[in-house]
Amino acid sequence: MTDLSGAPSGPYDDDKPHEECGVFGIWNAQDAGAMTALGLHALQHRGQEATGIVTFSVDGPEARFHTHKGLGLVGDVFSDARIMAGLPGTAAVGHNRYATTGATLLRNVQPLYAEFEFGGLAVGHNGNLTNATSLRRALVRRGCIFQSTTDSEVFIHLIAISLYSNVVDRLTDALKQVVGAYSLVVLSQESLIGVRDPLGVRPLILGRIDQPEGQPNAKPAWVLASETCALDIVGAEFVRDIEPGEIVIINDEGVRSIRPFGDRPARFCVFEYIYFARPDSVLDGYGVYEARKRIGVELARENPIEADVIVPVPDSGVPSAMGYSVASGIPFELGIIRNHYVGRTFIEPTDQIRNLGVKLKHSANRAMIAGKRVILVDDSIVRGTTSRKIVEMVRAAGASEVHMRISSPPTTHSCFYGIDTPERGKLLAANHDTEEMAQLIGADSLAFISLDGLYRALGRPEGRDTATPFYCDACFTGEYPISLTDLDENSRARPSLLAEAR
Ligand code: AMP
Repeated sequence: MTDLSGAPSGPYDDDKPHEECGVFGIWNAQDAGAMTALGLHALQHRGQEATGIVTFSVDGPEARFHTHKGLGLVGDVFSDARIMAGLPGTAAVGHNRYATTGATLLRNVQPLYAEFEFGGLAVGHNGNLTNATSLRRALVRRGCIFQSTTDSEVFIHLIAISLYSNVVDRLTDALKQVVGAYSLVVLSQESLIGVRDPLGVRPLILGRIDQPEGQPNAKPAWVLASETCALDIVGAEFVRDIEPGEIVIINDEGVRSIRPFGDRPARFCVFEYIYFARPDSVLDGYGVYEARKRIGVELARENPIEADVIVPVPDSGVPSAMGYSVASGIPFELGIIRNHYVGRTFIEPTDQIRNLGVKLKHSANRAMIAGKRVILVDDSIVRGTTSRKIVEMVRAAGASEVHMRISSPPTTHSCFYGIDTPERGKLLAANHDTEEMAQLIGADSLAFISLDGLYRALGRPEGRDTATPFYCDACFTGEYPISLTDLDENSRARPSLLAEAR
């Protein structure tokens, strides 16, 4: 989901839109609205700017969709009992949105809902379409009137103009025209539908809730969610990952699948393991916590250094710092304490506020740091703002040496598939080598895990040979597995853009 306001949008804009999101859907559950609020709460880390739920209820002859959306956290937007009472029904979809550019507008908040010839339809999208601007231009020329500036609205118009008759065929028709990364939850009065893009860049999983004992013949409730942590909170059991390119259709008959895009090797986003997903989630069969710890072990093997204490940058650096400590034998201590009552640093739009944000968020635990040689472990360096502030803070707390170890390779390229990274001009690693970066952040030494080291730690998904890439790692390599149609079109008009953006 990307903001297209002030199009052409994209990395060449001064402030690149951010498009991280979480999605949730449920079918055949009592209190589907409340269950969705719980699921979205567990997915809060995937988007904190805005949230929305659309439910569907049938009351006698009356079948209706109900919507509530708001800016802010799930707990705030859905705290009022009257609001929850306005979301009746046994089916629902929900969405958490993370975006910081001009468009903090309620009309951009998802799920998007529209009335069609066949009835109502709500769509929640996690990911980013790379041909949304050109599609939107063509649709506007055809007379489509857009209500929002989010790229996800193209799904609504493509479904509306499709000549097919049923929802699934119309959706498939729409999906064949979009390019990009997307995991979708779609709710119609007939079914809950889940979709993962052909390369499976963004996650989507299927869960199931069996009805309470004493109702042996009752049909189960089905859940779709970005991550497994959203299943635990609603008491659902994990069934499986939705496969890349798969469309699952859930209704009272059960779950059926179609795969209209053929069979292409998956390219799941490796950054979900490094930073984005919650540590208690399991993605593609592999626990995120375990993955991060193993990355820390590999980081220590590749980049050892003598020190007295390993200190994670909380929270994202914690599991890999534990792995680093296990592999190096150097004690692990919480030398930085995080205040959990402030949002992520990235939420604040200006550099000035961002700097302030880091100070609000972390403080040094002097007793664990003073007089010690400290190894700081964090998951990534993007602009370098966090690392610079943290190194300064640790030194001010009396550390005798400060070494920084990063559990991802240098972030040298922008993401166009749904992770918030700024354009290349603002990426520290795109403009400096490691030694220069160490100087800029004020560390005595700096080292990143290598790409090979990262893949040694993650291992290879079952059945995949080493010759075929199996993750999307464009942010580290610049190898983009899905074409960047809008960017390429715009850079034909302004050739310098391409080099700047990538
Ligand atoms: P920076 O301060 O710009 O170098 O950002 C790096 C810090 O932001 C690290 O501590 C990461 O944990 C965190 N981070 C990395 N990627 C993202 C992202 N896409 N969204 C929010 N925070 C991030």
